[in-house]
Amino acid sequence: MPVTFQAFTGDAATRSRYWARSLIGWRRFGRAQPNGTHAALAELEANGRIEVLLTQNVDGLHQAAGSRNVIDLHGRLDRVRCLSCERRIPRADFQRELEQCNPSWSELDALDAPDGDADLEALDFSTFAVPDCAACGGLLKPDVVFFGENVPGDRVERAIAHLDRADAMLVVGSSLMVYSGFRFARAAARAGKPVAAVNLGRTRADDLLTLKVTGDCAATLEAATALLNCRTALPLSRLRERAG
Ligand SMILES: [Zn+2]
Repeated sequence: MPVTFQAFTGDAATRSRYWARSLIGWRRFGRAQPNGTHAALAELEANGRIEVLLTQNVDGLHQAAGSRNVIDLHGRLDRVRCLSCERRIPRADFQRELEQCNPSWSELDALDAPDGDADLEALDFSTFAVPDCAACGGLLKPDVVFFGENVPGDRVERAIAHLDRADAMLVVGSSLMVYSGFRFARAAARAGKPVAAVNLGRTRADDLLTLKVTGDCAATLEAATALLNCRTALPLSRLRERAG
């Protein structure tokens, strides 16, 4: 069960449990690397094909792959935010704080295993100490949108402004089942812009799509990128023929 915003902000025991699991899970999270899809999208942006990359992921892997113009719709798991003063700190710094406050928990390396989550359930979370904001004493929360929490309005407006400038929308590897993402496909379709999707299964926007590719995202995007690179190279070669 995912933690809701209401449970996290309203209940200290929920926060202790969340951060204790996060302390151990973070080591795995920190090891994730960008894949072929991330790389292909970064290349499309480098070639001037992307107005903005709007992602529902919270792992920062698009930026790690080289994408620059990214809107993290649901925030970033590698940042922690103070709900009182809005100060943001790197999650890696907060990891050190958590370890310093909970030395016995930081030694639980054995739990970093496939069945680690099950093993964790046997632990007493009430002994886990959660530091407050060092600046104001406020409540710290991962800088991601929790269930029961809205995407910040300015973030939605920024995405809509980019959508206005774009001539099409490409959905990659999302079923768009969550409304916060689906609404942009609907807005694009309403504005008369073509919407395409690459996804292995069905999407909530299937009847809005101009083009649907049912397939592996990395393979599809790598093929599309290669094709686009050939096309942009063609006029150059003709120029050279003329020059010769
Ligand atoms: Zn604060």
